[in-house]
Amino acid sequence: MIPFKKALDIIKSSTTALGKTEVVALSSSLNRVLSQDIVSDINMPPFRKTAVDGYACRMEDLSKPLTIVEVIPAGTLPSKTIEKGMCAKIMTGAPIPPGSDCVVPVEDVEMLPDGTIRFTGDKPKSNICELGEDIRIGESPILKGTFVKPQHIAIMAALGCHTPLVSVQPRVSILPTGDELVEPNLIPSDGQIRNSNGHQLISQVIACGAIPVYDGIIRDTEEITERALSKALNECDVVVLTGGVSMGDFDYVPKIMERLGIKILFDSIAVQPGKPTTFGVAGSKLIFGLPGNPVSSFIQFELLVKPSILMLMGCNAPYQPVLRLPLATDYSRKRAERLGFFPVQITAESMVMPIDFHGSAHIFALANANGIASIPLGVKEIKKGDLVDVRPI
Ligand code: AMP
Ligand code: MG
Repeated sequence: MIPFKKALDIIKSSTTALGKTEVVALSSSLNRVLSQDIVSDINMPPFRKTAVDGYACRMEDLSKPLTIVEVIPAGTLPSKTIEKGMCAKIMTGAPIPPGSDCVVPVEDVEMLPDGTIRFTGDKPKSNICELGEDIRIGESPILKGTFVKPQHIAIMAALGCHTPLVSVQPRVSILPTGDELVEPNLIPSDGQIRNSNGHQLISQVIACGAIPVYDGIIRDTEEITERALSKALNECDVVVLTGGVSMGDFDYVPKIMERLGIKILFDSIAVQPGKPTTFGVAGSKLIFGLPGNPVSSFIQFELLVKPSILMLMGCNAPYQPVLRLPLATDYSRKRAERLGFFPVQITAESMVMPIDFHGSAHIFALANANGIASIPLGVKEIKKGDLVDVRPI
């Protein structure tokens, strides 16, 4: 049994970025990892513009009524220079007319009967966005290795990057093992349960930007398991098995991994849940054997497999940020020889509320969970108000 940190280190040193790239359409780059810096081809704003709807004028003239000389909608160039006693009605985003040095917001203006306006605010502000104040030509607001989120799509759109270069997606084989499993469309008969892990893992793989490859449930025979694993190794970059890694009579996975030339680098971690998690390599291929228990497979994918997939795509921030937040109620456990993980709800008040959790088969406990908290090895009890580490999920 190795410490969790050691397991992370072993996986990290076994994972080399695939290094292949492809060009995709902007909208298809969501959840992909950039293989290029995004360089600005423009200044933003590209011209001096107003930040408010109002009247462009000279600040020194604000004590007197001002005559409106034109109206400037966004997207239209001003045609007049603002001179003493003049102003132009101007809409947010429109170019500032020459001669003016401020825009007074409509809210701070009174319309007089003769059609002139008067400033009624107490302290004038410029309300002008200067040319290039947000970004300058040649600057790189997004760097190679970024995992693309919607905000990055907005930035690339603004900078004209409509065909970004991204890493190719790793292919991840999902192999749920177990004679007791049936697919979700069937009603389990005696002794059977539905295959939740397989479908959960498919969606976890998609969420981290890789391609899941799934051919159905693997039955608990050596022959079938070996054939499926061998095919997966040929076709995919990563293989994720669930079940079959424990000490049961039909838990063939470790034996078959060895037979197929997979070098097993660890086969148990001091974590709860997820102790029998197994990891091996075959050349550059990564093989994860996750426990069959649904919560274990969910958590160990998040903690171990996801960062590894992100590293294969060259991601520069493969680990989830960990928050330190106060516990909403006392939490205790019977044994403390492993690092513990438990589902929690991060409340609206930013407190961490443990969720009623019977154990690693209790996937339903995750329905209302939005975080996984941890309790350190050697610690049996955390008091209400103490800070705990939480990973948002
Ligand atoms: P195993 O690791 O194969 O001994 O399985 C441990 C527990 O997890 C058993 O109760 C299995 O029935 C359950 N289990 C295994 N695979 C799955 C799966 N794909 N979906 C849901 N539960 C599973
Ligand atoms: Mg099994």
